Amino acid sequence: MPQTRRWVGDPVWLADVLRAEGVRLVEYPGWRDRGHGDFKDIRGVMVHHTGSDNASAASIARGRPDLPGPLSQLHIARDGTITVVAVGVAWHAGVGMYPWLPTNMANWHTIGIECANSGTSPTAPHRTHWPDAQYDALVRSCAAINRRLAQNSSRTIGHKEYAGRAQGKWDPGAIDMDILRSDIQAAIGTIPDPAATPRPPVPVGKYAEVLLFRGVEGPQVAQLQRQLRDEYPYYAGDLVIDGVFGPQTEAAVREFQRRTRGLKVDGVVGPATAAAMNLRLVS
Ligand SMILES: [Zn+2]
Repeated sequence: MPQTRRWVGDPVWLADVLRAEGVRLVEYPGWRDRGHGDFKDIRGVMVHHTGSDNASAASIARGRPDLPGPLSQLHIARDGTITVVAVGVAWHAGVGMYPWLPTNMANWHTIGIECANSGTSPTAPHRTHWPDAQYDALVRSCAAINRRLAQNSSRTIGHKEYAGRAQGKWDPGAIDMDILRSDIQAAIGTIPDPAATPRPPVPVGKYAEVLLFRGVEGPQVAQLQRQLRDEYPYYAGDLVIDGVFGPQTEAAVREFQRRTRGLKVDGVVGPATAAAMNLRLVS
């Protein structure tokens, strides 16, 4: 049965992170409260095809008589529309094994993406019957999630790689997972420090009064820019230290938020973001 939860381990950030990636996103009603219990640690992404070009997000939320929904966290339609269906655990993986997953436990450790696609056949060449819009949405959503988890694309796998032997699964059909992973990696960009980048939310404490956003000027903004440039050179290395919170600063703030677990990606430095980056306060 679906149940209400508010556990920090669930990917409550899915909608924000996907939207920030520029995809067309639909939030399926009730997604934040849908799931078969809570995630354990999220280790990556698992890609599927539904087996039918017309399978809807609603059918993924609802499930089947023999398998109640949600059947995955995300659904990608053939026109590229991504629907967030659930925040909790979904029945998408079943039994199987993969090196960075505990055997038969992928549902509790991976975010499932169901793509409305027949799959064509187990031997069809890469991207046969995969519209550009759908494939692009798949690449972007996997990149957004992997980046959020501070992981490279090796943490995206196909159902067939996990459950090919155990269940005879061949989805996603007509997807060469190595090519998909290289496309995802190109979209992720560089992850310089996979182990250290994500961190849990920290108490806001002395940062309760901090509120910096586009248009604000002054020494505190200069300090923000200096820390972003010096501490996150791989995406803020060319930030100009001028004390003016402009588009470049906002983009760097968003990138910091995107890469930090528990932060809303809004480009605004409030108490939580300031605390997460240990912003040095300037009086
Ligand atoms: Zn599958």
